[in-house]
Amino acid sequence: MLEDKDRIYTNLYGQEPASLEYARKRGDWDGTKDIIAKGRDWIIDEMKKSGLRGRGGAGFPTGMKWSFMPKELKDKPHYLVVNADESEPGTCKDREIMRHDPHKLIEGCLLAGFAMQAHHAFIYIRGEFVGEGSAVVKAIEEARAAGLLGKNAAGSGWDFDVTLHRGAGAYICGEETALLESLEGKKGQPRNKPPFPAAAGLYSAPTTINNVETIANAPTILRRGGAWFAGLGKDEKNTGTKLFCLLGHINTPCVVEEEMGIPLRDLLDKHGGGVRGGWDNLLAVIPGGSSTPLMPKEICDTVLMDFDSLRAVQSGLGTAGVIVMDKSTDIVYAIARLAQFYMHESCGQCTPCREGTGWLWRVMVRMVKGQASIEEIDSLLDVTKEIEGHTICALGDAAAWPIQGLIRHFRPEMERRINEYRKIAKAA
Ligand code: SF4
Repeated sequence: MLEDKDRIYTNLYGQEPASLEYARKRGDWDGTKDIIAKGRDWIIDEMKKSGLRGRGGAGFPTGMKWSFMPKELKDKPHYLVVNADESEPGTCKDREIMRHDPHKLIEGCLLAGFAMQAHHAFIYIRGEFVGEGSAVVKAIEEARAAGLLGKNAAGSGWDFDVTLHRGAGAYICGEETALLESLEGKKGQPRNKPPFPAAAGLYSAPTTINNVETIANAPTILRRGGAWFAGLGKDEKNTGTKLFCLLGHINTPCVVEEEMGIPLRDLLDKHGGGVRGGWDNLLAVIPGGSSTPLMPKEICDTVLMDFDSLRAVQSGLGTAGVIVMDKSTDIVYAIARLAQFYMHESCGQCTPCREGTGWLWRVMVRMVKGQASIEEIDSLLDVTKEIEGHTICALGDAAAWPIQGLIRHFRPEMERRINEYRKIAKAA
């Protein structure tokens, strides 16, 4: 288990005020100027050494992402954009940072912004996060008043400011290029890539988009050193600490910071109060937000919670939104409900997603009752494969994966329903 001395988020549960005064007591904004004085290359190298991988779902190495920004400032400004859209069902970690530890995020913006030669950061927050948005605005104002933002931010010689932008609540605006479109005042629809945002992002200027947790991790990593962060976790590709959101059929749902690679069972037993009715009452777990494929109990018994271990069992760490389902769950219905969500949130730009997500949902509705043929399970799987990887953004994959996970692990249950329905229909 993670020791208290290695926790980044020491006010995750809001025991203390989120104010600048208390944030400073917790170590935030300590020596920020000195970190900046070490220079851009040092900051990026240290982030690379830490092994930090993006905490928004994709898990791309953060230091490498920052290094993709052009080395020279040319005719266009550089921008840092923080993705605070947090819309993946089952995910509720960034909101805790913004509520209770917003100065970690603001200080992280300054350090990351300096490293990529940006003078401005935009934090794009989902509209429903009203209180969290106010907490971030308050932290920005406090930082400005204390000279930590604005001209010569934190006495570093670098001018830097942060703007909070509230979205309107569309799931697709969590996709980084749809987010940029929305930030520019347009309809939130993903862009075709390339060009990638580091070449042409916000207002066609070089831009890096990072998740809240990724940016909020940066100040502590740079203060304590990349080697400290890399010394935590399972291995060199799965380093550091991670905020896990534990919810569903457990006794004490919570958000908790733990070491990357903690066994799922330990996570649920030690922090989630155990599965409702005991471990043997577990049916399945969705480990990384609704888009990651579910894992049946046999896998949950031993799986570790990190990027590569979850990938090895054909699932994913995603946003670390851990959705626990006990044996009272109608698993086919649960996945059908997710199919409905992705159909509703499709932006409609590409045919496989626009048409396919609706088709998946309609078939899943019949699968719930068993009003289908056994062969249709294969058709369903085929259609998910036609959608996966054939769309502009990852929403197509997100719609396909939960159904693929269901068929992979619960096909006998789907067949049972179909046979049952046939039997009843025949008897009638
Ligand atoms: Fe829009 Fe879906 Fe295509 Fe993404 S995959 S761009 S959400 S239609």
